[in-house]
Amino acid sequence: MTKYIFVTGGVLSSLGKGITAASVGTLLKHSGFDVGMLKIDPYINVDPGTMSPLEHGEVFVTKDGAETDLDIGNYERFLDASFLKTSNFTTGQVYSSVIERERAGGYLGQTIQVIPHIVGEIVNRIKQAGEEHDILVVELGGTVGDIEGLPFMEAIRQMKHDDDVAGSFFIHVTLIPYIKAAGEMKSKPTQHSVQELRRIGITPQMIIARSENALPKTFKKKLAMSCDVSTDSVVEALDAATIYDIPVTFLRQNILKPIAKELELGELAPDMEEWDSLVKKIVQPKNKTIVGFVGKYLELKEAYKSLTESLIHCGAHLDTRVAINWVDAEEIEERGAEALLGDCDSVLVAGGFGSRGVEGKIQAIEYARVNKVPYLGICLGMQLTLVEYARNVLGLEDANSIEFDENTPHPMVYLIDNFLDQSGDAQLRTHQSPMGGTLRLGEYPCDTKDGSLIQKAYSGTKTIYERHRHRYEANPAYREQLEHAGMIVTGESNGLIETVEIEGHPWFLGVQFHPEFTSRLQTPNASILAFVEASLNAE
Ligand code: GLN
Repeated sequence: MTKYIFVTGGVLSSLGKGITAASVGTLLKHSGFDVGMLKIDPYINVDPGTMSPLEHGEVFVTKDGAETDLDIGNYERFLDASFLKTSNFTTGQVYSSVIERERAGGYLGQTIQVIPHIVGEIVNRIKQAGEEHDILVVELGGTVGDIEGLPFMEAIRQMKHDDDVAGSFFIHVTLIPYIKAAGEMKSKPTQHSVQELRRIGITPQMIIARSENALPKTFKKKLAMSCDVSTDSVVEALDAATIYDIPVTFLRQNILKPIAKELELGELAPDMEEWDSLVKKIVQPKNKTIVGFVGKYLELKEAYKSLTESLIHCGAHLDTRVAINWVDAEEIEERGAEALLGDCDSVLVAGGFGSRGVEGKIQAIEYARVNKVPYLGICLGMQLTLVEYARNVLGLEDANSIEFDENTPHPMVYLIDNFLDQSGDAQLRTHQSPMGGTLRLGEYPCDTKDGSLIQKAYSGTKTIYERHRHRYEANPAYREQLEHAGMIVTGESNGLIETVEIEGHPWFLGVQFHPEFTSRLQTPNASILAFVEASLNAE
């Protein structure tokens, strides 16, 4: 039977609840438990796939092809594990399935209500996510007191008494503000949010207090007393040099002791040695390299979360600070690639949707190709390498992706209307297909060519597995022409072009998949690692 740790947030959002949940999960995993993670999103969208990356940050894609909240990415990066569809659900999904069941006559004439039907569906989904794990850490999105959060609060309250639940532990993450003029830390907002939780019937057993300054002992005592927890259950979370340092700082405060006691886990001694040495290399690396990161969602860097984290992982393994030089693709269109990328050791063009900034990205690719600067193009960043090569090497003037020019005479990137999805079922997509759910999503195999950069990056592995999130594909009709002119297809997935390289270029790789989704602190993604290495070795 599974034990559950519920993480709620109080006072305000953006306190790092996701990192807190991931850190607790990491420590338990390193103590030898099989730990599952679940993020509950109280918004009504069925999935975050159609939300703007500028508003919501990145859409993370799981191995089994679910478009999820970016916190799932944090869980995978911390726990070095792949989580599935079941590790994230939203209010929208809960209501859709209850309504669907009602329409199908599944409730035999009952009146469908929030309690018990919606709450019951939530409990079932939490339990489903917990199946087969020793411990499930559940992060509840939003802040205590939000209207949307109430059914979820009720569900986790009820689970305390559930026969299928082997134990539960409630962690509340809050903020301790510091009032400069008075020179004082304030506990009142935390007390109020704990009171609000209690009103719903949940008594937190641990307070994780975000604070700019260390909490004095007397303050901790006062907080413990007023929130009705023991003093060793008040854990401070100060701003850290890197998020990966948080599990270690929690461990130093003995965070596992009260958890182990309540959940009867025995004496725990997590092995964090390797983790710790990687953190040290993030904080004080020996080397440095500069990556020119060409993108268009630069107002919110969270839109590229997995990618920027993956650069940190690779840096840790290469004892290198990977400095990102953010370059706005549209600015390249105005000022030219040389002016903006001239100081970089390498160029990275990230994925994206829509035509804004596309021409700037193509200029960045041309710059990297001609000047023999190490280049990694991801998804759209790969598709555009074909367009650039067609226009500037093959002389096919108006070459484009049909995403940007439906009537291009040279559709280097096109739409295949039939493809086999992960489970081998035929899928149909057209220009008219709705946005939600018509992308090629999730993990697919890629067969690599002997002697290629990509195969070398994966230490000689013939078939690699990476995740996808895109609608368009490289057009095989141009393959022969491209290869003849030096752009070689080095990776294929059931006939689809997955990776391209350029003969005679020191390090140029375009990948149709998103390698960043499988990068973790302890096991960085192989293609990104090879790219950072090339960047480090570039003259
Ligand atoms: N817009 C492109 C497509 O849909 C690329 C998507 C991406 O970069 N993730 O195929």
